[in-house]
Amino acid sequence: MIPLFDLGRSHDLLRDQFHDVLDQVINSSEYVLGSTVNRFEREFATYCGSDHAVAVNSGTSALHLALEASGVGPGDEVITTPMTFIATAAAISYTGAKPVFVDVDPDTWNINPQMIQKAITPRTKAIMPVHLHGLMANMPAIMDLADQNGIVVIEDAAQAHGASINGRRASTFGLVSGFSFYPGKNLGALGEAGAVVTNDSVVAERVRLMRNWGSPERYVHDAVAFNYRMDGVQGGFLSVKLRYMEAWNAQRSLIANKYTTAFTNAGIKCPTVPDGYVHAFHVYAILVDDRERMRKAFDRKFIGHGVHYPIAVHRQKAYEFLGYSKGSFPTAESLAEKFFSLPIFPGMQESEVDLVIQTVLEEIR
Ligand SMILES: *Cc1c(COP(=O)(O)O)cnc(C)c1O
Repeated sequence: MIPLFDLGRSHDLLRDQFHDVLDQVINSSEYVLGSTVNRFEREFATYCGSDHAVAVNSGTSALHLALEASGVGPGDEVITTPMTFIATAAAISYTGAKPVFVDVDPDTWNINPQMIQKAITPRTKAIMPVHLHGLMANMPAIMDLADQNGIVVIEDAAQAHGASINGRRASTFGLVSGFSFYPGKNLGALGEAGAVVTNDSVVAERVRLMRNWGSPERYVHDAVAFNYRMDGVQGGFLSVKLRYMEAWNAQRSLIANKYTTAFTNAGIKCPTVPDGYVHAFHVYAILVDDRERMRKAFDRKFIGHGVHYPIAVHRQKAYEFLGYSKGSFPTAESLAEKFFSLPIFPGMQESEVDLVIQTVLEEIR
């Protein structure tokens, strides 16, 4: 049996350190925010190469506050990709703004910068690219477009811890970005968690205010805000795991390279990694025409698999009201039918990688 993702293999080795974190938090009684969270904020900002990280209770909250602090609100439009997890669009909706989708590039699977310009209207306030599967969107092109049009860029970096373009990590291009530390992400908490990362000190201050009841000091409230604070234990757990991030991402990269070598030779469409890009390989997906057949072959051998994502956001019932239809974004729709995610996680054995490759090749042939 090979799982799609096995957290147990990395967490088993960290059990003692996790227990130390629990002891520390029980001793200090800092259950919400506090010193473990402050420390993790500094460490994560440094890891990203950004000035500020503000810890929150989920990636979705991080995106919501990143948008709010960028001035996005009712009546605004935010351009994003339909090939993402629903949270991207939901965060836009929470602000009262409207998601406006732009189709993705058939090669990188990220928002197509060449198609953004014609989606810009006088109401467009921001672009929110998603670094799908851990490959960064074409940020140089997106930043140029945004600058020319006087709009801000908010990165959905929920899948992109450690991804970079020419040495610049996710979060260092846009005005502000949101990360998720959902357990299954490349850096995951032992529960829900997220962070807003930015170089802008005004944005960072606004996010700090809004995650904690708009409260600059206890029982003083400057804005109607949220309870989006990170737990003390999650900050401690994340600091422990951050020390292993580089090694874990390197393991993902080795597995991905093995997959890509085997599949490229067989003519299978694999993740593209443009020159100068480092892919974080949160997900490793291939495109298959007969997904049902592949799924059955994997099930027979008890090999995990997934689809990220089977329904483009504009085709979800939740976003019917936007008025898009089948055919609105043909590339995203075609990917939704063909994506097939393979097991990839730190601690995955070489023999397991080989078995996945063999299973894929047998079915494609
Ligand atoms: C995981 C994810 C989110 C949401 O993060 P949560 O921590 O689950 O709230 C947002 N966007 C993308 C692209 C994600 O993968």
